[in-house]
Amino acid sequence: RAVSAGGAAKLTIDLTALRSNWCYLNGKVGDGCTCAVVLKANGYGTGAAEVGKTLYHAGARVFFVALPEEGIELRKELPHAEIYVLNGLFRDREKFYYDFDLKPVLNSLEEVAEWSSFAQSLQEELPAALHFDTGMHRLGMSIGDALQIGESAHLLKGIRIDLVMSHLACADTPDHGLNEKQLNRFQRVCELFPEARKSLSNSAGIFLGDDYHFDMVRPGIALYGGNPVPDETNPMLPVAHVLAEIISLREVPHGDAVGYGASRVTPRKSRIATINAGYADGLHRLVGSSDDQPNGARVYIGGHFAPIFGRVSMDMIAVDVTDIPEEHLSRGAPVEIMGAHVNVDELAEFAQTIPYELLCSLGARYTRHYK
Ligand code: PLP
Repeated sequence: RAVSAGGAAKLTIDLTALRSNWCYLNGKVGDGCTCAVVLKANGYGTGAAEVGKTLYHAGARVFFVALPEEGIELRKELPHAEIYVLNGLFRDREKFYYDFDLKPVLNSLEEVAEWSSFAQSLQEELPAALHFDTGMHRLGMSIGDALQIGESAHLLKGIRIDLVMSHLACADTPDHGLNEKQLNRFQRVCELFPEARKSLSNSAGIFLGDDYHFDMVRPGIALYGGNPVPDETNPMLPVAHVLAEIISLREVPHGDAVGYGASRVTPRKSRIATINAGYADGLHRLVGSSDDQPNGARVYIGGHFAPIFGRVSMDMIAVDVTDIPEEHLSRGAPVEIMGAHVNVDELAEFAQTIPYELLCSLGARYTRHYK
């Protein structure tokens, strides 16, 4: 029987699998390359503190968050780790970075100037990463800015460049022409900063080959079990497991509708199980089904798959369990919503989104367990 403190579904984070995933990527990039950890957005919904501590013990030393407050939280757990703030230096927040030993990823000449003048006001040398836009056009300085910095050393006065980085826009589509273009542009930028470490690749970039590895890679989604290269078999282990339970069972006559909007009519006399997880728990409404869209996602009960039947409610889904053997059907019987059988990529496809969004939207209501 599924056991949880209350009635919420249980989210278990498999830290052993997380660790294996990091070790796998670390082995793939080899000795000359640092395998960092991206754990912004609370470790993609799985818990940044636990992820950070687990991977630090596994050997990871470099961590990337999006926001300074994420960095401050992580610093409490990891006093000796190198922590970078990807979204850059936020205006007038220099002191927070300094006090908590966070390294800003400087995304513009303006940020460079602010960090430089802050360092000079303290008469100290402060570390930072320089981020260059090689084609994604989201954050980062232009190649022209790189040349300007290269020619005018005073722009970096007081700044120690610990990392030069860029970010790939299409690494999960290996044949996309932009990958090579970004690689070539990044190589040109690197020549201007011979001393600094270099980093280009996210999870998918690691699988584009050695040329893309440089001195450091920055995986996120692959660590959490998402498939880094969607068209290939997923080499990563599932990390997030959502286990719900049957809270109600009923017979529905042939031709009756189930759930809100009466959108799904039984094609036969059916057994319907109601399960305690809904869109408030991150089960996107698109994973439900209707007579117009009969292909909803599925759940896993007692060694069998069963389709979600009708719309997703806030706290519940209905599942057609007509074909599931009776011995697996009782109040309290466990139901896998996401995990080893219903993997996050499959669920994301039904939700017409990416595993990143599904993981990040796992609600606050779950009792979270770490194993
Ligand atoms: N590097 C940067 C700059 C990012 O913004 C992200 C995440 O979006 C990552 C690395 C990790 O990407 P992924 O989760 O695809 O491995």
